[in-house]
Amino acid sequence: MMDKSEKIFVAGHHGMVGSALVRRLKSEGFSNLLVRDRSKLDLRDDSAVAKFFAEEKPSVVILAAAKVGGIKANNDFPVEFLLENLRIQNNVIQAAYENGARKLLFLGSSCIYPKFAPQPIPETALLSGPLEPTNEAYVIAKIAGIKLCQAYAREYDANFISVMPTNLYGPNDNFDLETSHVLAALLRKAHEAKTRKDRKLTVWGSGKPRREFLHVDDLASACLLLLEKYDSSEIINVGCGEDISIRELAELICEVVGFDGDLAWDVTKPDGTPRKLLDVSKLRALGWKPSIPLRDGIARTYEWFLANCAR
Ligand code: GDP
Repeated sequence: MMDKSEKIFVAGHHGMVGSALVRRLKSEGFSNLLVRDRSKLDLRDDSAVAKFFAEEKPSVVILAAAKVGGIKANNDFPVEFLLENLRIQNNVIQAAYENGARKLLFLGSSCIYPKFAPQPIPETALLSGPLEPTNEAYVIAKIAGIKLCQAYAREYDANFISVMPTNLYGPNDNFDLETSHVLAALLRKAHEAKTRKDRKLTVWGSGKPRREFLHVDDLASACLLLLEKYDSSEIINVGCGEDISIRELAELICEVVGFDGDLAWDVTKPDGTPRKLLDVSKLRALGWKPSIPLRDGIARTYEWFLANCAR
């Protein structure tokens, strides 16, 4: 069990995942949370990170800081996705070990699995086949992070765990149309189409790819359980166990937002991997299940968007 006064460093606390973790930890009564703004601590800077850990010596480290983006950003900026993520994770993981952290949780992603992995994807599919090219740079960095955590576990007995969430959405998601993931992008597009009284909304790709979506508050609750109960360096998937096609997602979002025009498909944009559904039996066996149905989660996220992003 984690002590409510243990010092927990959440790296990436302004992001969608980090901010959900901070909300959850606070609501569970954890009172000694450590966070640093980017302007005070650049996680890409190895000496700054080493100094910060030497001074603060957090007992638990949650590594939710990463350069992330949707299919287009990943495809357009492979150098930045590879280099910045390697730097951040190498610095934080090494400093956590060297300053005596008793546990570290590294956040990976479901895109680490091969493009044509069996569906639903079991944890054992890691490194069993070629990757999806559109996000290979990000994925290679994430796989390196998993391997570094496993190396610390094997060589130095560190309790460093790696969690693979499926596609996430929720408050503090990125709603920029060039760099966002699909759910946030379509929420914004549907909202703007409705506001402008457009008759059509353009969606990227063919609409055929299938994705699984999990509200980030559900991810945060799973991470808390894993911090308390999971002490293996073997990776573990976090998902809801159901996927839908991009077409169905677009239709659902239009319904929630109240846009009743037509969908158009921009097939000059990539589809990416055909299907990405995680096998979540390992997590289910620990007694966890999600609590936010997709339609409710989208409605909640739309409310957040209206309150925080809509002009
Ligand atoms: P992925 O899961 O890594 O492929 O990342 P995304 O969430 O960016 O894309 C998921 C799927 O949604 C891909 O097939 C995209 O082509 C499709 N998609 C449809 N419309 C959009 C959009 O406006 N933005 C993004 N990012 N993806 C879109």
